[in-house]
Order: sequence, then structure tokens, then C-alpha cells
Amino acid sequence: MNILLLLVFIFGFKVYAYPQYTYYMAGVFFHRAYTNTLYFVKNYELIKKNNEPFVLSKPLPQNSTFFFHIGESVRADHVPMNGYKRNTTPVMFREFKKGNLFCFSRAISFWPQTSDSFVAMSTTASISEPVIKDSGFLPYLKRTGIKSSAVFSGGAHKVLAIKLLTFSLEEQHFTNKRAHTALPQIEQLINSQGNNFIMYQGEGSHEPYETYDKELFSVYMPVNFTNNADETTINAYDNTIVCLDDFVKHIIDMLKDKNAVYLYASDHGEALGEDGKWNRQAFLYKTHDVVRNILFFIWVSDKFKMENAAKFAALRRAGKFPCISHDYVYHTILGFYNIKNKFYNEKLDLFSEKSEPFTDNLPSSVPAGLRKFKFEQIQQSNQ
Ligand SMILES: [Zn+2]
Repeated sequence: MNILLLLVFIFGFKVYAYPQYTYYMAGVFFHRAYTNTLYFVKNYELIKKNNEPFVLSKPLPQNSTFFFHIGESVRADHVPMNGYKRNTTPVMFREFKKGNLFCFSRAISFWPQTSDSFVAMSTTASISEPVIKDSGFLPYLKRTGIKSSAVFSGGAHKVLAIKLLTFSLEEQHFTNKRAHTALPQIEQLINSQGNNFIMYQGEGSHEPYETYDKELFSVYMPVNFTNNADETTINAYDNTIVCLDDFVKHIIDMLKDKNAVYLYASDHGEALGEDGKWNRQAFLYKTHDVVRNILFFIWVSDKFKMENAAKFAALRRAGKFPCISHDYVYHTILGFYNIKNKFYNEKLDLFSEKSEPFTDNLPSSVPAGLRKFKFEQIQQSNQ
């Protein structure tokens, strides 16, 4: 009886705190979180050990910096690179015109939910085969001697699955929700010697679209943070993207003289009044373009272009693909470091000349609650 009361309380709180959930969806959410957590706890030792064999197909890059930005709620069609009427991202647009930034006009999110997309980007799980087969890409970096670190201003690090997937990071730092407060820490990490892989996850454009410095980034006015209603809500949303662009400018300034790559992938999109829906609401467990088509770009420095001609040529070719997805992240990161394990797929490596466009496009709708990760027993190798 007590357990029943506890469940009613927890579910009630979830629905109260996140009005986009119904009780049924809150139930599905908890069931899935429970299943995922159980898997990660059961496999913790194997995930930690990660003795999956791999080879380096070419030598490791020298003194490289890879900045991986897990974005929040930014849809593809609210940036000028993808034809938006407002110039929300003047810096990205300038880099795009210069040929240093490749913006994928159509990139499909694994799922309209932060932690699931984070887990999928980090592991072998793909949209058509959401199966986790290894410990994610991070342990391979550690085993190769690449220093990996993360700065979190969003809350994804609190999810147990992500805690376990990121255990091999050498450093983790936490800042408040304002993205710019993370910059001094990121600068310190970028400037350390050797090969650096730096992850950043922030609050970005999460509802209610108020995590930006109002004095600096109130470009579109008036704004409304309390009710999802009309153009004033969209103004606030676009201001968060203006703020993101300024953050990107600071990172590019830190990276521009290095052999560096900046990969940005939003976790999911956002509904802004389509069919009368806002945030992810009723779309949460369904397929809908606005919540699945995300901002996804790769920026490279001039030094990267010079020192990595083949990878740059491959990226330039891939930049014209009509569609990619979150599936590409795991393979592109391993590919950047020339790490090949049995799961690596060159078709999904944007730095490989053999990469191919995503063909599933927007996968057909999945009935509510049926979408979840499947897990393959991680094998313990004798090596
Ligand atoms: Zn999110």
C-alpha cells in the first residue's frame, strides 16, 4: 500500500512538474528509466572494464582538440544556414559561408528526449537498431591515451545511465545553467597539452526559453516566458539561439589556431505552435518533424583542413548529404581518432570517404511507450 502511495506521489509530481506528460506517459518514462538503469547497474563492471578489442587504422592525430557539444532543443529550421528568415546565428553563418562550418539541413534525433538521445549518441544504439552493444565511445579514447573531459551546465549528468557512460572521463566540471559561465573552464581544458576531447552539455534552448543573458541577447522582442502562446514565445526561443551563437563564437576563438573540430548536435527539436502544440507535449512519443529534425553542424579549423586533407574532403562531401542522424556521432568520433572496433561503421563516419547519407529519413511513428533501448550482453573478452 505504501509503495502504491509512493508511486502515485512520484507520478503525480512528474505530471505536475512537466505538463507535457500524461500519467500514462509518466509511467512509461519511469518504466524505461528503470529498465535502462537496471541494465547499466548490472553491466557496470563490464562497461567499466571495456576490453572490447580495437585497432588504430592510422596513427593518432597529434595535439588535436575535439569539442563535442550536446545541444538542447534546437531545431534545424531556426538557423539561417537552413533558410530561416531571421539571422539568429551570424557567427555560424559567417563560418558556413567561409567553408569552415558544415551544417546538415536535415538531421534526425534518436528520440525527442534528452537522456535517451545522449545515450544513443554515445553508444552503438541507432534509430533503426536501438541496441547498446558496448560501453560507448569514451573508454576507447581513454585506452588510446586521449584526455577526455566534460563540462555540464545542463542536468543530463544526473541520469544514472549517463553517469556510468561517462565514468571514464578524466575530468568533470559543473557550472550553472548559463552557458557562458562554462567558458573559463572550457578554455582551460582546450589549452591543455596533447589530444583533448571535451564534451559540453548545457541548458541551451530548453523551455521556458529564459536561460540567456537578457541584456546581451534580447534581439527579438517582446518575449514571453510563462505561457506558450504565440510569436512572443518564439521570440524568446530565438533569443536562446542568438545566445548559443555567441557561445559558439567564444569556442571557435579558442579553437581557431589549433588542429580542432567542433561537433554540435542538438538532443532533439521543439514544437513551436505546430498543430497547436508546444515543447514536446503530445509529440513526445510520436514521430514529428519539428521534434526530430535538429541543428547538427561540424566546424573545423584551418589547421585541421591543412593537416587532415582526406578527412576534410570527406566532410565536405558529407556536408551535402540530404539527411544524417544521431547514428553518426559514435562512428564519427571513433573515425576522427582512427579507432576501429567491430562496431565501427564507415558509412556513418562523416570523416570517412565511404560515408553515406541517412536513408531512413524520418522513421515511421512508434506507438506510445514502445520505444526503448535494447541491450546486448557486453562480452568479456579474454584479451
Ligand atoms: Zn533535451
